[in-house]
Amino acid sequence: MSAPVLEVSALKKHFPVRKGLLRRSTGTVYAVDGVSFNVMPGETLSLVGESGCGKSTLARTAMRLIEPTSGSIRLDGKDVTRLSRRAMQPYRRELQMIFQDPFSSLNPRMKAGDIVGEPLRVHELSRGQEARARVAALFEQVGLRPAQMQSFPHEFSGGQRQRISIARALALEPKLIIADEPVSALDVSIQAQVINLLMDLQQQRGLSYLFVAHDLAVVEHISHRVAVMYLGKIVEQADKRKVFGNPLHPYTQALLSAVPLPNPKLKREKRILEGDVPSPMNPPSGCPFHTRCPHVFEPCRSVVPAFREVAPGHEAACHLYGVIGSENGIAQGESL
Ligand code: SF4
Repeated sequence: MSAPVLEVSALKKHFPVRKGLLRRSTGTVYAVDGVSFNVMPGETLSLVGESGCGKSTLARTAMRLIEPTSGSIRLDGKDVTRLSRRAMQPYRRELQMIFQDPFSSLNPRMKAGDIVGEPLRVHELSRGQEARARVAALFEQVGLRPAQMQSFPHEFSGGQRQRISIARALALEPKLIIADEPVSALDVSIQAQVINLLMDLQQQRGLSYLFVAHDLAVVEHISHRVAVMYLGKIVEQADKRKVFGNPLHPYTQALLSAVPLPNPKLKREKRILEGDVPSPMNPPSGCPFHTRCPHVFEPCRSVVPAFREVAPGHEAACHLYGVIGSENGIAQGESL
């Protein structure tokens, strides 16, 4: 079996909150609080959850755009957690990012061709005619015309600008792309085109994606595996079919109950999520979801549920489930 492209272990990102003239620390935001996951070659792992659950901070920390508080990040087996900016440079080629808002992530004063070719120049991979030919090929791969290399970002539509971002991310031939809500700023009709482009590129290049999204219909379409985040922690993780077909964590069940089913004759029981995500500065004791959970019982308020395999290939952090084979363990396919 091949090794993971990205291995994240017990990753934490805590932000101190400072106030007053002396900038005294008055608290801590536990934005990412002990998260572990792998992304395999050619695989899409999606991170889902409500806004404020820490998924974008986790993506940026895994990318080393934000320094982690603790834990480790391994890229192709190499620990890159504490590498300096300079030492990190060769690994940047393997790991690229696509952002939510392509307009703000593209320099408005640069021509599209120069934007896509910039990584080639910075990493001294090619120049002149050869670089122009590579950029033209990238434009074609993402569905743009090479003639559009001379245009500026404002001359493109939103979907085309995201295609430029994708071409720029591909320029260094990365193994992994971290995509942070890459289609949520686009019209629904354009979203499908960009998602299909990402899937085609994955097929052609064997790319891996860490895909951050809150739109579960998009996630169901693009993912191989899904990790559900709540208050800085992963609370459920499994193959897409298991998460969507038999969600085990009450938080996942509530999230999925809001997704319309493609067949109007089928009905799903709606489970309304009461209240907002609690502040990551002051997370609830015990299970972080206990203030909103319809199944809460006594241990939930004081004991943190372990994140563990509760059914074959299906991990969750919930006291309703024991470990596989134990009295409270569940069989595959069983649900609450
Ligand atoms: Fe709900 Fe308790 Fe499970 Fe948390 S541990 S999700 S509060 S049942």
